[in-house]
Amino acid sequence: MYTFNPGPSQVYPQVRQYLQDAFDEGWLSAQHRGERFVQLMRQTVQELKNKLNVPQDYTVFFMSSATECWEVLAQSLTPTKSFHLYNGAFGEKWFEYAQALRPESAGLKFGVDEVPDVYNLPGLDEKTDLVCITQNETSNATQLRDGVVLNMYNRLPGNALLAVDATSSLGGIQLKYIKADIWYASVQKCFGLPAGLSIMLLSPRAIERVRKINERRHYNSLMAQYEKMLNYQTTHTPNVLDIYLLSRTLTDRPAIKAVHQHLQDRANKLYDYFDQATQLSPLITNPEARSTTVIGLQGPAALIEEVKRRALAQGLQLGSGYGPWKPTSLRIANFPAIPDAAFEQLVQFFAREFA
Ligand SMILES: *Cc1c(COP(=O)(O)O)cnc(C)c1O
Repeated sequence: MYTFNPGPSQVYPQVRQYLQDAFDEGWLSAQHRGERFVQLMRQTVQELKNKLNVPQDYTVFFMSSATECWEVLAQSLTPTKSFHLYNGAFGEKWFEYAQALRPESAGLKFGVDEVPDVYNLPGLDEKTDLVCITQNETSNATQLRDGVVLNMYNRLPGNALLAVDATSSLGGIQLKYIKADIWYASVQKCFGLPAGLSIMLLSPRAIERVRKINERRHYNSLMAQYEKMLNYQTTHTPNVLDIYLLSRTLTDRPAIKAVHQHLQDRANKLYDYFDQATQLSPLITNPEARSTTVIGLQGPAALIEEVKRRALAQGLQLGSGYGPWKPTSLRIANFPAIPDAAFEQLVQFFAREFA
């Protein structure tokens, strides 16, 4: 059985052994204030930076979910307002969470086949603390290319910082970390691990801002988390098991450059195939807007239903569409933990039954 669900997604098969090891090595009741845990944290942070090419001067934080990251950014890095450029359900949810805490926050929606024009953004003004973009919009299988992120970074107004939701791409593709101040992801997407842990990366400029704003009203305020992380500690008992699993998978995985190339090649093949050969077609028609790590397909609702049903009967679980796209689309995760053999089976299935 393979799952192509884009989160929670297929975990690495090695997780079975890592779980056993975690139990045997006593991690499940490890003291999170002890030296052993500090060593694990230090090693995990270093391995994360090495394998993913994260700049050494970025600070790594561990939280529980991408949703927590949304809330923490509104609390601790948004004294006045944030600006949200989005085209789908996750970007919109982030905007809603921010607005609930900072009502002045503004949003601008663009089309799924559109490459947004960052030089023309009504609502983005000098009072903006944080500009928020979703690098990979999991709900509709779109992606912002490096050039869009770079242009956004170069035209930030006033003192604004750039925050990037990379929940379903970080760990799968090479991201240009120096071209934004804040990046985050949760591990049940491209890290191939069980949910319950997220990773947030802050640039030195973002850390400086955290210190200046010095917001301390919440258990997860970034200032408190930062002070703890200076000593590889956390504000509360963290998900030690998931941190352990992360350290094990990072040690065993190749560098991000190789992972990126592999996923890009697989995505190209899949898009080529679905562009021509089947009754379904890619959900996103503009190749410049298509995601590398989540492939969306569209078709009539009855056909989508039939494809999912028959695939499942053959041990292939496809991801459903999301939000407004639910009945007429399906999603295929192209995450590192899903082996090539699974994609070979998937293409054979389509070639046999829905060509
Ligand atoms: C999955 C996802 C989230 C939510 O992640 P949680 O860890 O469940 O909070 C947020 N943004 C994007 C782009 C996602 O794909």
